[in-house]
Amino acid sequence: MEQYYFHSVTLDTSKCKGCTNCIKYCPTEAIRVRNGKAVIIKERCIDCGLCIRICPYHAKKAVTDPLESIKNYKFKIALPAPTLYGQFGPDYTRERIVSALKQYGFDYVFEVARAAEIVTNATEYYMANKEIKKPVISSACPAVVRFIQIRFPNLIDNLLRIESPMEVAAALSRQEVNEKYGIPLDEIGVFFISPCAAKVTSVKAPYENRKSNVDGVLSIKDIFLPLLGIMKKQGDITSEPFSLSSAIGVSWAVTGGESSAIKEGRRIAVHGIHSVNDILEQAVKGNLDNIDFLEVLACPEGCLGGPLVVENPFIAKVNINNEIAKIAKNQAHRVLPKHKDVKEFEWKSTVEYRPIMKLDDDMMKALEKMNMIDVITEGFLGLDCGACGAPSCRALAEDIVRGDAKETDCIFKLREKVNSIAHQLHQIESAGSMSDDNK
Ligand code: SF4
Ligand code: SF4
Repeated sequence: MEQYYFHSVTLDTSKCKGCTNCIKYCPTEAIRVRNGKAVIIKERCIDCGLCIRICPYHAKKAVTDPLESIKNYKFKIALPAPTLYGQFGPDYTRERIVSALKQYGFDYVFEVARAAEIVTNATEYYMANKEIKKPVISSACPAVVRFIQIRFPNLIDNLLRIESPMEVAAALSRQEVNEKYGIPLDEIGVFFISPCAAKVTSVKAPYENRKSNVDGVLSIKDIFLPLLGIMKKQGDITSEPFSLSSAIGVSWAVTGGESSAIKEGRRIAVHGIHSVNDILEQAVKGNLDNIDFLEVLACPEGCLGGPLVVENPFIAKVNINNEIAKIAKNQAHRVLPKHKDVKEFEWKSTVEYRPIMKLDDDMMKALEKMNMIDVITEGFLGLDCGACGAPSCRALAEDIVRGDAKETDCIFKLREKVNSIAHQLHQIESAGSMSDDNK
């Protein structure tokens, strides 16, 4: 069995009431309720964070690095995701937010939006290659990459083989600091400020089987209040000029930002993991052959709807759009040189298929098990009620075949069995009283 990788999304069993709300929403059917508590099947979880949003009892959470972990490094670099800017109202400009990060304790701030511009340029060069498989599928959302790894192996070759803006920002900022200030590389700590759990997982357990350039991932939720406090105290003063990215990079926070930044080709932007599932199914069927680029984001409204943000995604979108409008108006953005050498940002290894849905290594046995699942499923009522703790009757049938559940976990089957036992007892009792009467 393949080793499980680290997961950011975890369950606090003390808070779980076993209500089964989460099981039906999980896109990979990774959750079961057993003995009154939810259980996450680790091989199936893609850390999309949907169950964090769904659980009414806040029993699901994302593990991130504590804010104090920045103290473990002599020189601290902050990598704010562009989503961070959307969390604050119109008075809190990017300059103020970046300045607050420095006052909080970071020695250097490198906007991930800056790296997003570079990735945009690299993507344009990548797309110009006639050999690549279309539609090219964005690899910026790690939950989607994991989803493709387990559910859509045929689309692995369509993934954009360019590092994510977070990884590019981490590598470039470390290099920049080392060259500018002569700080030894091992004294530099690079921290991504994240809207989502999947990014944490992609840092702690990269799907490319190589070490991430990021040293720690902090949650936007955790750092929001400290930054707000600093900005309120400081007033509307920005003490130093920052090298801020252009509108292209900041737009990546909003759904459609990545795809509209690319200048050519037919492009689609899809958000929300269930819609992503639908569009990927279309891609597998060959219905997207006239599409060049697919931007796919697991969260509703993209990163603005991540499980680790504080602001409503629609309000955050207005905040971001205000900021973008200002950049465009003032023409204050830097125009980056084109990065012709795409190789520099290309994946160095490949993403592999993770056949977690496989029933057996032996093809014949797998087929037999598949038939058994069909037969058991037919025997259920097909209500998909979830009372058994599995998301559907078919999922329960699969659990039974895998040896993880039994037929009587279905309450209707249990009732049938109880009725049949009661009937048998009644018959035995009747037979007994008849023989007593004959005495
Ligand atoms: S939604 Fe899931 S994790 Fe939350 S209480 Fe219900 S069963 Fe437990
Ligand atoms: S994080 Fe996503 S994939 Fe993992 S258990 Fe929750 S809903 Fe399912």
